Amino acid sequence: MTETLFSLSEQIRRCTACPLYKKSTLAVPGEGPKNAKIMVVGEAPGEEEDRTGKTFMGKAGKFLDKMLEIADIKRNDVFITNAVKHRPYENRNPKVGELKTCKELWLDQQIEIIKPELIIVLGRIALKSLLNETDVKYLHGKVIGRNKQKYFVTYHPSAALRFPKIRAEMEKDFKKLKKFV
Ligand code: URA
Repeated sequence: MTETLFSLSEQIRRCTACPLYKKSTLAVPGEGPKNAKIMVVGEAPGEEEDRTGKTFMGKAGKFLDKMLEIADIKRNDVFITNAVKHRPYENRNPKVGELKTCKELWLDQQIEIIKPELIIVLGRIALKSLLNETDVKYLHGKVIGRNKQKYFVTYHPSAALRFPKIRAEMEKDFKKLKKFV
């Protein structure tokens, strides 16, 4: 049977495959059109996302919207999700095993259904999950091809909100991205 994005989201909401579900409120499957040409992958739901079940709702989300605007991309046209779908408690980083489980169960299927032309990888955790790389510093601002999929690596919005230098780099990345899309 071909999986649909809708039924996948329903299954994600019921997921108990790793311990993160135990202390979270709502799973956050992600949202956007099935035929999105661009997919955005962040780290994990934060407090507001955990409460609402929607992705990138808080300050980081507003900042992401600004970055997308720089590249002339509308949020409504992209599918936005995270490397893990449940909020890691006490805002800790997702563990490698949690990233692997969530990718193999859900993220890979979302990518398979949407077949995006480009995946925007936001920060270290998404980079680890999708490309098994760790150095955003050396990979950001570039389109990387892997297994017939194109990725555009950049920093995580939360890092840009904390560090002005990263914010400037991220703005440059999205200006470059405008030329690719
Ligand atoms: N940060 C993320 O990585 N994802 C969200 O959904 C919100 C904040």
